[in-house]
Amino acid sequence: MKEDYYEILGIEKNASAAEIKKAYRKKALKYHPDKNPGDHTAEEMFKKSAEAYEVLSDPNKRSRYDQFGHGAFQGGGFGGGGMNMEDIFSQFGDIFGSHFGGGGGFSGGFGGGRQMVKGSNLRIRVQLSLEEIANGVEKKIKVKRKKLAKGTTYKTCTTCNGQGQITRIQNTILGRMQTSSPCTTCGGLGQIVDSKPANADADGMLVTEETVSIKIPAGVVDGMQLKVTGKGNDAPANGIAGDLLVAIEEKPHDTLQREGDNLHYDLYISISEAVLGASKEIETVTGKVRIKVDAGVQSGKILRLRNKGIPSINGYGTGDLLVHINVWTPKSLSKEQKDFFEKMMDDEHFQPVPEKEDKSFFEKVKDMFS
Ligand SMILES: [Zn+2]
Repeated sequence: MKEDYYEILGIEKNASAAEIKKAYRKKALKYHPDKNPGDHTAEEMFKKSAEAYEVLSDPNKRSRYDQFGHGAFQGGGFGGGGMNMEDIFSQFGDIFGSHFGGGGGFSGGFGGGRQMVKGSNLRIRVQLSLEEIANGVEKKIKVKRKKLAKGTTYKTCTTCNGQGQITRIQNTILGRMQTSSPCTTCGGLGQIVDSKPANADADGMLVTEETVSIKIPAGVVDGMQLKVTGKGNDAPANGIAGDLLVAIEEKPHDTLQREGDNLHYDLYISISEAVLGASKEIETVTGKVRIKVDAGVQSGKILRLRNKGIPSINGYGTGDLLVHINVWTPKSLSKEQKDFFEKMMDDEHFQPVPEKEDKSFFEKVKDMFS
């Protein structure tokens, strides 16, 4: 069970934006990694507070959290969980003023010029069927990522003494000026490769194929991006791994059309079925179902199967399946059939008498969106 965000920050449920900010500021300073080197409990608290602040400082996310709790952010990639250090430090400009922001690293505010180096992100696309989207799915995908090779060791960079930057003091007409620039030997890392296996690259990395399990929540939308934290490329030395960014692609379905969380299905019935009524089997994202078509049904009628659509990604229920009735008119007839229809031409039962409920197509569309 995840801890309550309000409890983590030690504030009341009705805390104001200013109170939230103040509470987070206190926690962030108390648990900052530079003040608690090697203390994993502090680091955990630091991350938890940042996550709580990330949600509670955003009115939208906060109201979703108040309504649905942690369930509002299930699926990892959205808003809530899975913040990494880079995300956290990029918040700081907002909290502590601009001098803490600076590129999202440790640089700037908190001692030393050492950069918190993060490995690069990897991007993949995942194709999903409508059924997989409707039910949620766990995909195992092979990803080629750079991993720190076994046997790679690092040593402190002698050019910058592990500072990651070179500071120069110059005497100018304005007085003594101090300038600093990133160390070019170690790229700001403060450490360089000491020894590495022969097959590793200059940073001591090896490209390795890894099977990553990706949990895809029900209701994702084409073009949406999920984030699997830490499954991008590793970073050298003590840096943190990048993320794996998963772009969702929806495969077109043979018979179902998606529109938001609703689905549409075109059902074709014969004139006889329209006149006499019928039981028809139709496809849904959770298997086939039988539906009853009433005798005397009109072409264009829409049958609504509640909750047979796609679950909302935000947890607001499930969409419907809208079955559109299309009466199929035969294109060729036998002599006998032609005679029958000719006889019916003037029959009173065959004369169109639209009733109030047989609304026009345009009125139905209007109803659907109101
Ligand atoms: Zn260096």
